[in-house]
Amino acid sequence: MDMTWVEVDTKAILHNVKEARRMLGRGVKICAIIKDNAYGHGLIPIAKILQKGGVECLGIGDISEAIELRKNGIKLPVLNIVSAFPFQAKDIVSYGISQSVSDLGIVRELDKEAKKQKTTAKVHIEIDTGMGRLGLTSENFEDFFSKVRKFSNIKVEGVFTHLSSADDNPSYTWKQISDFEYASFLVPESIIKHVLNSSGVINFSGAGFDMVRPGLMIYGLHLDKKEEKVVKLKPALSWKTKVLFVKNCKKGSSISYGNTYRTKKDTKIAVLGVGYGSGYNRLLSNSGEVLISGKKYPVAGRVCMDLIMTDLGKSSKVKAGDTAVLIGKSKNNIISAEELAAKCKTIPYEIICAIKKDVKRVYV
Ligand SMILES: *Cc1c(COP(=O)(O)O)cnc(C)c1O
Repeated sequence: MDMTWVEVDTKAILHNVKEARRMLGRGVKICAIIKDNAYGHGLIPIAKILQKGGVECLGIGDISEAIELRKNGIKLPVLNIVSAFPFQAKDIVSYGISQSVSDLGIVRELDKEAKKQKTTAKVHIEIDTGMGRLGLTSENFEDFFSKVRKFSNIKVEGVFTHLSSADDNPSYTWKQISDFEYASFLVPESIIKHVLNSSGVINFSGAGFDMVRPGLMIYGLHLDKKEEKVVKLKPALSWKTKVLFVKNCKKGSSISYGNTYRTKKDTKIAVLGVGYGSGYNRLLSNSGEVLISGKKYPVAGRVCMDLIMTDLGKSSKVKAGDTAVLIGKSKNNIISAEELAAKCKTIPYEIICAIKKDVKRVYV
């Protein structure tokens, strides 16, 4: 029995893909982003579910993830949305990965490698319209594009940009979208254009383009509460642990490191088998909550490496071996990743990505 584990609702993933599809125009392809262990949901199982769910492409952020996909029989197009180093060209070509590019160095290497392997390398050129991260400026794009097209063994498969604030800044986002349209105006129709991330799909679905790159929404999470009014997504991930020990404590007992929690009256304290070592954020000390049999209990005292404590109250029937929910539903109650993110002053992305890889993932 594992002390802590993640359950992934595969139907929720398929529902969310369908919702994304419903919001978009006909013929818009979905490149589901599964970087960073599919946002903590497990790379290979999620890739298989998405393949079954009919997405057209999978987006990853590291060549090693792409290789893992190929070694596990995933046949879908795979796009690396992050720049690669020239030494990775061989793997990129031999595993048939589409590579995003922002400079000629990697393009040259891919061309050389593709010639060697008697094939073509597929690239997607990134334009930086205001994200301020990877990509060429709009002014440099045209020149770069014509240079890349001269390589005999390179195929420009796509041109794209990334939105920086589609969740909360419509005017900036529209500016990014129109700058992208302007910069890529002369790109032939056979080359796919893609712009929208999850918040883009939800708030700017009309902009569409040929393909979209949703990540967070595939997993049923929102960056902003008002998005819940636009689309009903189902969170796929639950995180659970077991009660290891329950004890009676007298009023005034101190709980965990630093004695930051003192029981206000005689009570029962439960010790649970999870901690920051598994990715449960230490900022949830004295602020997080857990669900046991549908009831919410506060995290009492500091989060330890492998353990947390919770105050059950005097008359609780909770016992060792009971299941506690850290993220997810229990009867009619729920703790969302968004809620934990707010408590940790971060975004839901970080809460779910933080769950360590060695925490078992179960697919239901
Ligand atoms: C992470 C990422 C996405 C997906 O973003 P979400 O907000 O999770 O939808 C799309 N495109 C690029 C380039 C990314 O880095």
